[in-house]
Amino acid sequence: MRRVDPGLFWRGATEGAATLRWLGVAGFALTVRQRTLILDPYLSRGGARATLTRPLVPDEALLARELPHADAVLVGHAHYDHSLDAPAVCRHTGATLYGSSAVANIGRAYGLPEHQLVACQGHEQLRLPGGEAVPLPSRHGRVYFNRVTLPGDIPTPPPWPPRMGDLRHGQVFTWWVDWQGLRLMHVDSADYDGALVKGRPVDVLCLCAIGRRYRPGYTEEIIQATRPRLVVACHWEGFFSPFGSTPRALPGVALAGFVEEIRRAGASAAVLEPGGSLGLDG
Ligand SMILES: [Zn+2]
Repeated sequence: MRRVDPGLFWRGATEGAATLRWLGVAGFALTVRQRTLILDPYLSRGGARATLTRPLVPDEALLARELPHADAVLVGHAHYDHSLDAPAVCRHTGATLYGSSAVANIGRAYGLPEHQLVACQGHEQLRLPGGEAVPLPSRHGRVYFNRVTLPGDIPTPPPWPPRMGDLRHGQVFTWWVDWQGLRLMHVDSADYDGALVKGRPVDVLCLCAIGRRYRPGYTEEIIQATRPRLVVACHWEGFFSPFGSTPRALPGVALAGFVEEIRRAGASAAVLEPGGSLGLDG
């Protein structure tokens, strides 16, 4: 894996009326007027060997330290690098977990009570404490060798702690959110339903970088459909190294080319370091 040109990293404001923090992989924490929304948190990163061979255990102390507050937690799909830490964040913050029925089963396996679980079918207009959200049915992107990794559903609660292979992707959602007036779309796997994202303008688009080359027009089409002021690149770094370590680009992710593509499509691009944040006004 290659080091990332430090010149690509965000040098603008790190706080504002809205603060968006990137947690690594497709994880984000958006805070507006003291209300915090968390998407796809995954900070409990073990080494490659441990992740592939051992049960996966959320690092509760790290999560409580890094993510002390949440008013809602949304998950785009049930793969471990998007879902593993979400129930633990809900437990210590009291937030509700929103995701597919597969994600709800992960919450049950962890031991979250039913009143903190919302299993979505897609297209619901959800009222959250702090905003509203719509899960738009999507597809999992093709990542390496034009294939979807760990396909399938999680029809019943998996063993806990789970192994990587227990966490199949389930129904995939592109989340559209209005959080305290800031509109955000979150694409956590490099695909989306072009018809469903059309006509949903946003302020910020969180866009997955891994696998984008397998989806023709991936960057241009969603930027034209949603007209974001800012596109934040995510899911571009190797996620076996511990949270907070120097990020390295995943094989096949041409980060500078992605940034260029975003700009050509007419939006500003931001690349954060894992754990880093950016501020937005108004
Ligand atoms: Zn995935």
